[in-house]
Amino acid sequence: MSETPSIEQNRLRLDEAHGYSELWELVKDTAKTALGEHRVGMMLFLDDLPIQLGAYHPVGTNNIVLNRTLVQVVEAATKSQRLVNAFIYILLLHEYLHALGYVREAEARQLVYQVSERSFGEDHIVSRLARTSPWALLKGVPLSLIEAPKRVMEIVRDFEKSNQRYIV
Ligand SMILES: [Zn+2]
Repeated sequence: MSETPSIEQNRLRLDEAHGYSELWELVKDTAKTALGEHRVGMMLFLDDLPIQLGAYHPVGTNNIVLNRTLVQVVEAATKSQRLVNAFIYILLLHEYLHALGYVREAEARQLVYQVSERSFGEDHIVSRLARTSPWALLKGVPLSLIEAPKRVMEIVRDFEKSNQRYIV
């Protein structure tokens, strides 16, 4: 039996995660520990969405679509990989909870906070953003002025190792 990862281990994994795949493994592991639930076979797509929309999960699919423009705005505004990772973690966890069957917004948000607090501690940036809003990172950024070029939707390759055989 493997030991439950400590808050320090989770914090370290978040800070050192490179790319969506590593953040996704952390999302799944922390949700599993906190809720005892698990789902594999999800795929991640990046698309340029309205700036108020972080991500979405089309019900009945294995897909999560993340707002590429928004991630770039967060990168530019924070200039911190740690904060960008915290932001993406919350967005992916929220959609993962929808995919696990928690379809109501209020419930998903409450569970994001529960998983975050359990995994990182209540004073950690992830828990603070989960309690307020991940958009708190963009306070002062004139979001209405951002003009997003609409690019082609792309799939994140090797998002889950179990997906690899489906990707040509
Ligand atoms: Zn939602």
